[in-house]
Amino acid sequence: MLKPGATIGILGGGQLGRMLALAASELGLHCHIYAPEKDSCAFEVARASTCAAYEDEAALARFAASVDVITYEFENVPAKTAAFLSKRKPVLPDPNVLEITQDRLIEKNFISELKIATAPYAPVHSASQLAAAVDGVGLPAVLKTRRLGYDGKGQAKIAKGGDAAAAWRSLREVPCILEGFIDFEREVSVIAARSRDGKVECFEVTENEHRDHILHTSRVPAKVTPALATEARRVATRIAKAFDYVGVLAVEMFVVGVGKRQTVLVNEIAPRVHNSGHWTIDGATVSQFEQHIRAVAGWPLAKPKRLGRVEMTNLIGAEVNEAGHWLTVPGTAVHLYGKKDARPGRKMAHVTRVFSR
Ligand code: AMP
Repeated sequence: MLKPGATIGILGGGQLGRMLALAASELGLHCHIYAPEKDSCAFEVARASTCAAYEDEAALARFAASVDVITYEFENVPAKTAAFLSKRKPVLPDPNVLEITQDRLIEKNFISELKIATAPYAPVHSASQLAAAVDGVGLPAVLKTRRLGYDGKGQAKIAKGGDAAAAWRSLREVPCILEGFIDFEREVSVIAARSRDGKVECFEVTENEHRDHILHTSRVPAKVTPALATEARRVATRIAKAFDYVGVLAVEMFVVGVGKRQTVLVNEIAPRVHNSGHWTIDGATVSQFEQHIRAVAGWPLAKPKRLGRVEMTNLIGAEVNEAGHWLTVPGTAVHLYGKKDARPGRKMAHVTRVFSR
């Protein structure tokens, strides 16, 4: 268990690292951010920072020596980096989680082994496998690169009767998985925290609306039945336990109708704090960031309570210019990430509104 004044090392310097560092400081803990990008927006809110490549072992060794525990704010930390660090300091959540969640095929197999439902899927490593996958999964479908995809990048939809070979070419014929296209009712996520002693606390199910494959708005409560909400939280809890997870993880799911009943299919696991949990900063008694810091510090988790009906909207690219307007809207919390360059598709800020009902 870390004492106040201890230092948490965070790999990754984006807005998630920034909000983790802010939460840590409220608990009297320090953060040391390690990121390769010079303009990392987490640097300016942390007590210490290292700007170096993930392959720079001298910098990694100094970083490890300066912290008490290490965590990460993104899932594409190279396996070698995680292994190097975990020989020196505890890395939480355990890097074996990265090996599973960095690869969509391994992740889907892991979920399926837990007898948790996903979209139908099949691996695509060759032209003949692609044909077999189309036969098995059916069209329409989504072809996704196994590694390094996010916010719809590394994905190609194949319509009914569409050209699967052309879709695979558009992804440069790298190893992929083909997933059946799910005609979902809605998309939801569950943010779950698991402590070092194995206790799990889930936030309420969040409903997510994407635009151009990027999360646009999260709403809580989600428009789902109480039974569905229980099922979704149970699924996230089972996944956290199966990983022997420590920290916050997000499970993204599709809600589908089966007759009159709703059920969930797991789309993706994020082994980190997640954009769909940003509402918890202003809309709950404890935030996902604080829960993560508590968990990796070996502290007890808080029991989250929602403070009202909550709506969180991302300001993406030039939408950051709307922040001035939001500053004048009563009851709105504005979070600007301090990024200089408002490139299209870049998450620049978010706003959260909490309504009494
Ligand atoms: P992902 O990168 O897998 O989270 O996908 C980004 C978004 O694309 C999801 O949030 C969905 O809106 C959509 N999507 C991904 N996979 C599927 C699928 N199998 N069926 C329908 N929509 C999907």
